[in-house]
Amino acid sequence: MSITALKGFKDILPDEVGLWQLIEATARDIFHRFGFAEIKVPILEKTELFARSIGEATDIVEKEMYSFTDRNGESITMRPEGTAAVLRAFIEHSLHAKLPVQKLYTVGPMFRHERPQKGRLRQFHQLSCEVLGSELPRLDAEVIAMAWLLLNELGISVRLEINSLGCPQCRPRFKETLVQFLADRAGKLCDDCERRRNTNPLRVLDCKSSHCQEQYVAAPSILDHLCPECSGHFAIVKESLSALAIPFRVNSFMVRGLDYYNRTTFELVTDALGAQSAVGAGGRYDGLIEQLGGPPLPGIGFAMGMERLVLLLQQQAGDTSNGPATDLFIAALGEEAQQLAFPLLHGLRRAGLKANMDLEGRSLKSQMKQAGRADAAFTLILGEDEMSRKVAVLRDMSSREQEEIALPTELDPWCQELARRIR
Ligand code: ATP
Ligand code: MG
Repeated sequence: MSITALKGFKDILPDEVGLWQLIEATARDIFHRFGFAEIKVPILEKTELFARSIGEATDIVEKEMYSFTDRNGESITMRPEGTAAVLRAFIEHSLHAKLPVQKLYTVGPMFRHERPQKGRLRQFHQLSCEVLGSELPRLDAEVIAMAWLLLNELGISVRLEINSLGCPQCRPRFKETLVQFLADRAGKLCDDCERRRNTNPLRVLDCKSSHCQEQYVAAPSILDHLCPECSGHFAIVKESLSALAIPFRVNSFMVRGLDYYNRTTFELVTDALGAQSAVGAGGRYDGLIEQLGGPPLPGIGFAMGMERLVLLLQQQAGDTSNGPATDLFIAALGEEAQQLAFPLLHGLRRAGLKANMDLEGRSLKSQMKQAGRADAAFTLILGEDEMSRKVAVLRDMSSREQEEIALPTELDPWCQELARRIR
């Protein structure tokens, strides 16, 4: 029996890879326009990093992490998200000393032991962005605007939902009110909510059970409990989004699954992926850098799930190809033609063309078929008759027009000239 991949771990095959590259290239371009720099951080970190940042009582830390003890007896975790590791690096290398506000992004795989479904995997990929060092509410709007623009340029339409979770001054009072509200409904909630009522009460609000949601219609709203500072901050975030003409809906039930958030949180949601509605999400985490042993600097960030972006692009179809897969296919017939074609192929590749040929020198019919399968824009035919006349036939595969061109006397200039014509 052959060995298969692990459940929830997926191969990204060549016919899908173009979409991944398109997403990554578009994201990088936009992030650079907004002044972000890339940072690459390890996939493995000390387990403690995630326990301390994401929070012990969160789903991720409680039951989703891939943690193991390595050969030295140290507890290690495969990162379930990007923020903690980026902040660890920011602190470890004192990046704040170089620039007052750091804008960092990272791209790569994350690992969570969840139940695999459409748009939910155990190894998935995130585009993850952080802005460290400023708490200005306009910055929140700028970060949200960047995520919005990325989806826009990819042609993906989503809804933006925002909320404020307050701060350590005002949230405890809200928490108390909420805990009381939930205590009054003890026994009427789902098992998860009964448990979270004590461990992580805010999280009950985004319970997926419709029965629980009916109960929560009357729940207290965090927005009625914000202190004047948080409420003023949130007002400017909303004004700033409006100034950028970005439509949003305030959803006071959106609490997010990670403990480190405060003030602004946001989600970019779609109805096109069933239960996996969040394409991207993020928020402010003003105490987190200090909590991880760094300076008391504020921060905000978000992450987008690349698998979900790919699914949406596939659904919205349209032409997302990056041009022809092959610029030129050489069909060489007979040993003499093959001998000429082999260095020609290399010359054309050096001249920048995506070029290919059939090294086995099969029949013309078979080679033309291969050119079609390779999605070649042009084919260069070197037949025996052509070879004897020192010419080759250049065929435009879409218009089917053909012309004869002289064979090279000098390889490199000839290849460069042909590459210039074709592109
Ligand atoms: P969800 O509510 O879908 O579980 P989340 O709140 O756990 O999402 P975050 O931790 O905020 O997600 O991660 C940001 C984004 O990463 C999500 O909006 C989603 O697009 C993507 N994502 C999260 N978990 C997975 C997963 N298991 N598989 C694929 N994508 C994921
Ligand atoms: Mg999740």
